[in-house]
Amino acid sequence: MKDTSPRQNEMETEVTTGQVGEKCAVFGVYGTELEVARLSFFGLFALQHRGQESSGIATANGETMMVHKGMGLVSQVFNDELISNFKGHIAVAHNRYSTAGGSKVKHAQPMLAAGASSLKTVSYEDPHPSLNDSVSLSSGPDDGAIALVHNGNLPTTVALEGFLKARNVDTAEFSDSRMMVEAIAARMREGVELPAAIKDVYPLMTGAFSLLIMSRDSLVAVRDHCGIRPLSLAKLNGGWVIASETCAFSPIGAEYERDIAPGELLVIDKDGLRSEQIVVPDPKLDIFEFVYFARPDSQLLGKSVYEVRRNFGVQLAKEYPVEADVVIPVPETAIASAIGYAEALGIRFEMGLTKNRYIHRTFITPEQHVREQGVKSKLTPIKEIISGKRVVVFDDSIVRGTTSRQIVKMLFEAGAKEVHFLVASPPVKYPDFYGIDTPQQKNLIAATKSVAEMREYLGATSLRFLSYEGMIAATGLPENQFCTSCFTGVYPIDIGERAKEVVHS
Ligand code: AMP
Repeated sequence: MKDTSPRQNEMETEVTTGQVGEKCAVFGVYGTELEVARLSFFGLFALQHRGQESSGIATANGETMMVHKGMGLVSQVFNDELISNFKGHIAVAHNRYSTAGGSKVKHAQPMLAAGASSLKTVSYEDPHPSLNDSVSLSSGPDDGAIALVHNGNLPTTVALEGFLKARNVDTAEFSDSRMMVEAIAARMREGVELPAAIKDVYPLMTGAFSLLIMSRDSLVAVRDHCGIRPLSLAKLNGGWVIASETCAFSPIGAEYERDIAPGELLVIDKDGLRSEQIVVPDPKLDIFEFVYFARPDSQLLGKSVYEVRRNFGVQLAKEYPVEADVVIPVPETAIASAIGYAEALGIRFEMGLTKNRYIHRTFITPEQHVREQGVKSKLTPIKEIISGKRVVVFDDSIVRGTTSRQIVKMLFEAGAKEVHFLVASPPVKYPDFYGIDTPQQKNLIAATKSVAEMREYLGATSLRFLSYEGMIAATGLPENQFCTSCFTGVYPIDIGERAKEVVHS
């Protein structure tokens, strides 16, 4: 989701964090025999890597709806007492991840809106609660409220704005997610049932969305026609679980059933589960899910994320075999690729960089010097492994180049003789508009520098990226199954007015 308010945009420019886009996690449960809030809590825990900024859970029991959300990690927002207070057999839950410019509890999800014909035309929520505040709300039995959670981003909201303005809803302070929930609620106030309201609004939602929407008595899942962000379904004790990634299923004992298809609308209520393909699908999962986002123990498009990452390393070993003494990964994401590379070439693999696992989000700290300090407090080299060695260091991607530059410096300071920087993906040359947090194009190092210039900037002995073809081959899937926009600048879903922000090389 993104914030489209003018104030927000000013702030973004000030801190040069680029657009407010995010990779988030969504999670939902339906089951009369299930403790849905507690399951959501554990589901969000398993999906914490997809968002660490805010967290929230909403439940419904057929009559009323409750929500609690706040800034911070799942463990900071919820405690046992809060979880125990939730009532209901349906839940939707969310972890949010965004740039600093968008850090506000007003963006925390689930987002509620009044869907009943009689009631309020705007959300229940105070649009300006203070930072670090948490919000707890519940709806009355007649409110007909709906709650929405969103993973993805709508680069253009012109159509939604027009739809809401025509109904006298002021959209000035609304994010894309807020617009979606208000538009669906507006149709419901016009007497349309939830699934039909979603279908009506669907053509207005231009961009990436894996959505879960809960009414008092049903849970609905829907994905954009390209399925840019993942969404999977599992079974649990006669009920159903839906999550951004399959890694959320095994910790709660749920059994993976299938992926929700691009363009599919799935409804779960007291009559069971029914599904409808509401538009012609054009499957294009974001390949960056394999490169960076997803947890290694998840499956995407039927492929193990760990195995694909390992293949990235094996492929790079074919493309660029380096004579080295040791291969080390930048933890965590690059570990599997570094193992694949080291094994393919018979070079020793070591965890030569230690990560402080309690530090988060150096990538999106707005000011550069803070970001640089962040890298140091996150990663420390182990001198005994590095000193006097020809080192191959693996990272999953280079975005701004800040992390890699710091790492190269650290490794030389730790006594490395050579530092070969290998990247398990091609150069990121284009900004993302579908829910990844990337900076503006001018801040993407590969958009402004050649590989030789990047090597020089990093101070590395050599620098090599995985080829684009090699990346695709390593997935074992055809190229046309993927959105590759950050590498190719090909945007499969219209990015509207944002297209003018992109310079094609
Ligand atoms: P940079 O210093 O900007 O080049 O950041 C590159 C590092 O950020 C790599 O180690 C990646 O693992 C990580 N990374 C890549 N994409 C993202 C993202 N969207 N959010 C957070 N971290 C990322």
